[in-house]
Amino acid sequence: MSLSSGLPVFPGTISASGRPATLGVMGGGQLGRMFVHAAQRLGYFTAVLDPDAQSPAGLVSHHHIQTGYADEQGLRQLAALCDAITTEFENVPAGALQALAASRPVAPGAAAVAIAQNRIEEKSHFTASAAESGALAGVSCAPYAAIETEAQLAAVPAGLLPGILKTARMGYDGKGQVRVKTAAELAAAWAGLKQAPCVLEKMLPLKAECSVIVARGWDGRIVSFAPQRNVHVDGILAVTQAYEGNMPAALAQRALAATHAIAKHVGYVGVLCVEFFLVDDGSADGALVVNEMAPRPHNSGHYTMDACDVSQFDLQVHAMAGLPLPQPRQHSPAVMLNLLGDVWLDADGRARTPDWQAVLALPGTHLHLYGKTEARAGRKMGHLNITGADIAAVKATARQAAAILGLPGLEDI
Ligand code: ADP
Ligand code: MG
Repeated sequence: MSLSSGLPVFPGTISASGRPATLGVMGGGQLGRMFVHAAQRLGYFTAVLDPDAQSPAGLVSHHHIQTGYADEQGLRQLAALCDAITTEFENVPAGALQALAASRPVAPGAAAVAIAQNRIEEKSHFTASAAESGALAGVSCAPYAAIETEAQLAAVPAGLLPGILKTARMGYDGKGQVRVKTAAELAAAWAGLKQAPCVLEKMLPLKAECSVIVARGWDGRIVSFAPQRNVHVDGILAVTQAYEGNMPAALAQRALAATHAIAKHVGYVGVLCVEFFLVDDGSADGALVVNEMAPRPHNSGHYTMDACDVSQFDLQVHAMAGLPLPQPRQHSPAVMLNLLGDVWLDADGRARTPDWQAVLALPGTHLHLYGKTEARAGRKMGHLNITGADIAAVKATARQAAAILGLPGLEDI
């Protein structure tokens, strides 16, 4: 079917069969939950496909198809219920998205999701986007080598060490990554990863990290949020700073242009996040390096829920349904603090309740919890958005909240 047939899907429409306009999502994690909330606010019914009976999105959706992502019957059920379908999880099999696309608009499409699923393809795509558009001029990938065979392992240039070995597939939040200093450590790390296809990336001296979130419609129109600056702790996002001056203006412009080029190159439809490193190359600002992309809303865009007139989840709904894409406007500076399971555990690993009373007494705090009933160290349980009249006030509140909750990553704020 053509890309846009069946679109737009207007909310609140009752079809001839009596079925209300329904949007579907593959995956039932917190991103799916926030998508469901945004879709429902507009008046859509929602359907979630996720195997977990307690999935955060499944718990709040009109329909929850509780089955695996490749289950053909489940996919048929999802297609029958929905007018358009998106994904919140990049490791959904591309074949499942392809099958859904035979009868329903699916955004983002299987091809774009497949690229994001594989670091080797992702890097080739970044390079190809750069060749096609001048917009990536001066923005490169980290030096890397693909390691899929013993011969490739043996041929790794010494200049890539020390480096980070990353599995080509299924990595997230620093999982599937090993830091290596020598060829011997590299060989041992690859064996430890069961010789799965990997990339070895040179370890770069990071000054900072940032990300750019854009939404692209079926008609090719792109709208974007300003680049946000991110602090990771142990490979997991801890803090996002979203305000004027969070990074040098020239680099912010370049990151934005590069993200537009990347989205355009693959004919992307939906919300896309591209992560960048700001590398210390001796210059005052540093150099931009493109790291990876996520074919969905992103943890670093959660501040948009409270600091912008249109959130990244609103844009996901608009893009997939073929509604007009409004250019979002940020009305408040913001800091987002990620709340991992550690916040619910004391030093001995015993369960505790965080001091919400004190946190919520702080001005401009917006608590978002994902409905997960089991806290584990490193598990994303929620986030706290902090907004305020000016940057200094937001930073001060963020520091106070972090002190109450024992959160890391605020040292440079
Ligand atoms: P994930 O899919 O887990 O997010 P990333 O490639 O984004 O994987 O790596 C997670 C974090 O590890 C990054 O945000 C960054 O802090 C650090 N990191 C990754 N690659 C490099 C690198 N080549 N040099 C320095 N730090 C890196
Ligand atoms: Mg990352």
